[in-house]
Amino acid sequence: MFASNAECSAKTSSSSNIPSFAATFAQQISPEEFDRQKVVYTKQAVAELQNSEEFKRWLQKCSCCSSSWYDGQFSTQCQECGGFAMSRPCGICLGHCGATWYRDIDMSHKMKEGHWNGKCYLPESEQRHFILQHLVGNDEDTLVDALTDLGNT
Ligand SMILES: [Zn+2]
Ligand SMILES: [Zn+2]
Repeated sequence: MFASNAECSAKTSSSSNIPSFAATFAQQISPEEFDRQKVVYTKQAVAELQNSEEFKRWLQKCSCCSSSWYDGQFSTQCQECGGFAMSRPCGICLGHCGATWYRDIDMSHKMKEGHWNGKCYLPESEQRHFILQHLVGNDEDTLVDALTDLGNT
């Protein structure tokens, strides 16, 4: 570090290497003030980054199949996509209530499975009806197996 500086100083004077704005900045504020401004600036930079299109595009993306949820893409075979991009109709009544659920990006990435924030607008009794339907639908094979077993005995 010092050695290379010494080599450089043979060609150019070292003081002229410091950008003038940095020198002025350093003279005007104390180290404490510099640290404070640095934190404020960093927060601003992070906020700006998080609001930038590139950042959202990078974040709103499936880490399994690389579909860009931001652009409304998803893969129907992919667990993490879960059959939708950034939003989906209500997951309980499959959209009968008109509610829209929004993807929980953090959870989707973490669990490698589509996670959604939202709730069903239907009365609880009707929700239960839909939930029961899902259960019966998913367990149809098991029910058929059970009935077949009964028939055989
Ligand atoms: Zn995916
Ligand atoms: Zn619903």
